[in-house]
Amino acid sequence: MDGRGNDAPAIGIDLGTTYSCVAVWKNDRIEIIANDQGNRTTPSYVAFDDAERLIGDGAKNKAAMNPANTIFDAKRLIGRRFSDSNVQEDMKLWPFKVIEGPADAPKIVVTYKGQEKEFSSEEISSMILGKMKETAESYLGKTVKDAVITIPAYFNDSQRQATKDAGIIAGLNVIRMINEPTAAAIAYGLDNKSDIDGKMNVLVFDLGGGTFDVSLLTIGEGGTFEVKAVAGDTHLGGEDFDNRMVDHCVMEFKKRWNKDLTGNQRALGRLRFACEKAKRILSCTTQTSVELDCLHEGIDFSLKFTRAKFEDLNMGSFNKCIETLETCLSDAKMKKSCVDQVILVGGSTRIPKVQHMLQEYFDDRQLCKSVNPDEAVAYGAALLAAKVSGSGDKSVQDVLLRDVTPLSLGVDIIGDILSVVIPRNTSIPTSNAKCFVTTEDNQYSIRIDVYQGERSRSTDNHLLGNFSISGLPLAPKGVSSIMVGFEIDVNGILTVTAAITSTGKMEKLVISNENGRLSKEEIEKMVNDAEKYKLEDQEFKKKADAYNALEDCLYKVKNKIKDYNIKTRVHPEILEETEKAIAKTTKWLKDNRAAPFTELHLMKVHLEFVCKQLI
Ligand code: ADP
Ligand code: MG
Repeated sequence: MDGRGNDAPAIGIDLGTTYSCVAVWKNDRIEIIANDQGNRTTPSYVAFDDAERLIGDGAKNKAAMNPANTIFDAKRLIGRRFSDSNVQEDMKLWPFKVIEGPADAPKIVVTYKGQEKEFSSEEISSMILGKMKETAESYLGKTVKDAVITIPAYFNDSQRQATKDAGIIAGLNVIRMINEPTAAAIAYGLDNKSDIDGKMNVLVFDLGGGTFDVSLLTIGEGGTFEVKAVAGDTHLGGEDFDNRMVDHCVMEFKKRWNKDLTGNQRALGRLRFACEKAKRILSCTTQTSVELDCLHEGIDFSLKFTRAKFEDLNMGSFNKCIETLETCLSDAKMKKSCVDQVILVGGSTRIPKVQHMLQEYFDDRQLCKSVNPDEAVAYGAALLAAKVSGSGDKSVQDVLLRDVTPLSLGVDIIGDILSVVIPRNTSIPTSNAKCFVTTEDNQYSIRIDVYQGERSRSTDNHLLGNFSISGLPLAPKGVSSIMVGFEIDVNGILTVTAAITSTGKMEKLVISNENGRLSKEEIEKMVNDAEKYKLEDQEFKKKADAYNALEDCLYKVKNKIKDYNIKTRVHPEILEETEKAIAKTTKWLKDNRAAPFTELHLMKVHLEFVCKQLI
């Protein structure tokens, strides 16, 4: 128990691929909550080492030192199978190990406190969500339970489910999940501003750390959000810009000193860190420098970086963004003049060149950028959280919001044909049922394959899962029938049921837990583990603090005894005892780096006692 009240308002969390952000409705407005380092966004990084677990800035800052046990990009894994081609491709780039777990689920392998441990992507994501929860709790001074979590518009059912599970493992009650571009549009209050004919076309341009997503939304009467088209590049973002700066520095270093940095992981890590910082600075000034002492073989490195140089290095990527944007518009069969609002999202849209190019493309139209682009998604999520939980004011309560299904959902029928049960762009929550008959004489069971997509051939679409229903009464084909029901809840999560309709007897099967999802037992275990890791973190911090306190105390006593005056004033016996205590503590500290808290504390009490006699 932490003695905090239990009435914290619901929070909004943007769980990003590279950075996450948390916000809450407080003092009649949305507050973006800074973390313990004072940063308003937190790296989506978790690191494990011999002694402790680090989440956020701490993990990212030390990534170069501990690459194999520093986990990032968990969002690229969540809700995917190990055999998924995207996973296989991404794995080649990660310095950490991913293996195939049960049911084709990917597992991340790390060494933590000297032991090999396996984590699911849900668990890693839950650690980041837990960090965001804690950030909000220390700001609000209360225990946070309820949260709205955002997901990309293109996330399929299993990715949504897995994200929700991550929330549960983090001890959150996920009251709603919402598409990132929808959240950004809510941040700008566009959900209740549709124009005369009741419709508004909104383009959300999201250039973040590792991914680029363009979404075209149509906001209709009554606040329906229709995703008209999505396009993007899953490997284009701020990290690429950082890497190009790093490459440039490596080249310069080679030119100046004829030495190759590429083998020195620590130097590269430090360079990457410095380059990201310089990149951010170049978004508001036109010139800065990258400076690193003792970068490689004792050589200090300093390089002037201009905004022009930065733009030059990355022009190819910027052009690609505009091309992708064009694809998105042509997919939606929409002219750029029909776009009513353009919203900037993602930290990398702070780059002036990106803004200029976008503005130019839209014929000098004003872009929505008054909300910080890397905070807009969390901002919208927090607005929705306030609305759903009833904690905001009147203007918040007016937010009327309904997402729609991004893709059609249906079942496979004979001949590899997709029979659509819920068409795309249906507002959610929704449910529908369809009747299917047997295709063979005396058919005893029917297999139901559930697909998501727009293609008419079932197998050209995305298979969400399958199950069978048996026990059909024996009859000629076409006589026995089943009723297949689809239900999508407010979070866009699908449950499919099948029931035998003939003779009034009914059976029902639910498949929402299929599809590589974690079982209830697994989630329970992970919730317990999460609690265990949290306690371990706290225990570690307590120990580290005690260790530091003892070191500090030792340092003070040492200084005191060096003082000549003390030597003349204090009895030689006490002096001797003190010197002995110092020697003993120094040796003990060296030999007992991992001592438990109580021992560290006792040593300090003893040392303090000896020291008191000095005064
Ligand atoms: P995500 O893509 O994970 O959702 P963000 O939207 O927060 O994360 O984007 C993170 C990226 O934005 C990082 O690569 C970061 O370096 C970059 N970024 C943040 N602020 C700036 C800035 N002022 N100028 C340029 N890039 C920035
Ligand atoms: Mg993002």
